[in-house]
Amino acid sequence: AYIDRIKRLDPKINAFITLCEEMALKEAAILDDKIENGEEIGQLGGIPVAIKDNICTKGIKTSCASKVLEDFIAPYDATVVKKLKDAGAIIIGKTNMDEFAMGSSTENSAFKITKNPWDLGKVPGGSSGGSAAALTAGFAPLTIGSDTGGSIRQPAAFCGNVGLKPTYGLVSRYGLIAFASSLDQIGPFTKDVRDCALSLEVLQGNDPLDATSVNDTATKDYLTDLDAGIEGLKIGVPKEFFQEGLDPEIDESIKGSIKKLKEMGATVEEFSLPITESGLSAYYIVSSAEASSNLARYDGVRYGYRAETFEGIEELIVNSRSEAFGKEAKRRIMLGTYVLSSGYYDAYYKKAMLLRKKIKNVFNEAFKRYDIILSPTSPILPFGIGEKTEDPLQMYLADIYTVNINIAGLPAISIPCGFSKSKLPIGVQLIGHHYAEKKLLQAAYNLE
Ligand code: GLN
Repeated sequence: AYIDRIKRLDPKINAFITLCEEMALKEAAILDDKIENGEEIGQLGGIPVAIKDNICTKGIKTSCASKVLEDFIAPYDATVVKKLKDAGAIIIGKTNMDEFAMGSSTENSAFKITKNPWDLGKVPGGSSGGSAAALTAGFAPLTIGSDTGGSIRQPAAFCGNVGLKPTYGLVSRYGLIAFASSLDQIGPFTKDVRDCALSLEVLQGNDPLDATSVNDTATKDYLTDLDAGIEGLKIGVPKEFFQEGLDPEIDESIKGSIKKLKEMGATVEEFSLPITESGLSAYYIVSSAEASSNLARYDGVRYGYRAETFEGIEELIVNSRSEAFGKEAKRRIMLGTYVLSSGYYDAYYKKAMLLRKKIKNVFNEAFKRYDIILSPTSPILPFGIGEKTEDPLQMYLADIYTVNINIAGLPAISIPCGFSKSKLPIGVQLIGHHYAEKKLLQAAYNLE
């Protein structure tokens, strides 16, 4: 039924790069047999899952929505894919994204532009826009994205989904094609918080193949007590997240969420968290620096696209990279190379790293007083396709509420909290302390 729906409706939405029809039906048949024989089918038995196209899937194309990896078939499964399969989930397809996860609208894909199912003239957000749109369009009950600076939470807000960026290290990055390794995390898009908790149980856990993976090997249980109340929960609302640039309709919706939380017995207090703009600068410096290094491997020799005409090795590399990388990826590579180059390193990269430390400390201090920090997910509503493509700075500014969370390695969830007059979804972001996903999910469950 899901495959039929995708075939019928995805030509309008463009959520998928690859549909795995044959493989999915085969897996479904195997599960059918298991059910008939009374065998266990796992926590996600039979659930179709769509995966962002920067997460490796054995035998299935993993393109990162880039011409560079247009023909790349991963020889192995990412750890999250293995975990999903072990839990009985069925990989139904690979979803569209901004090239190498760089962007906030999914318009940077080399292949297609994904539309927001709520309004086909609007972007679904990004960079995991394909996964967000696929969930909203009913193409799969669970989709997977990656979040380096907001790429799960912002598209979740734009498409009316629940989207979780876990604590850095909670979910293995093995098999996630790196954008900025110290910020990247994989997480789920779901219809509600219970599904989110269930999928996190499957996705999380120590992985010896990821050196930054959490040490604790005990299985986390997020479903038990999900519905415990939030009486006495301390919530901090940073006033800097409600200043100039915030859409008044979003402001109003978030205030509605605050009211609801108070009515349920939480204490909500405004406080100062003076990091939004400096965090944005630190993010774009650190993420571009790491990207320039991570993307150096695409040289036309070892991986992916190779130019047809060249003389000598240097021209091979230059031509391959010039022809295959899109505009935004090139912009980040140049920016990253610049801030890392001798002479500019101290002025930019080193400064950004100091700022990063400061941002972590500011959050640590705040979490001494609060269990949860609440903010809008995005300052703006889903915008028109093509509206911001000519102005990258405008696009970067829209990430102001999400990037700091990655800089600090914290978990954060975006859940729907209302609609604009133009019937576009609005998301509220709840931020937790490191590895406090259980508390975060409880708060989100009560609020949704
Ligand atoms: N929009 C941000 C960027 O372009 C975040 C992307 C992401 O989280 N992958 O860098």
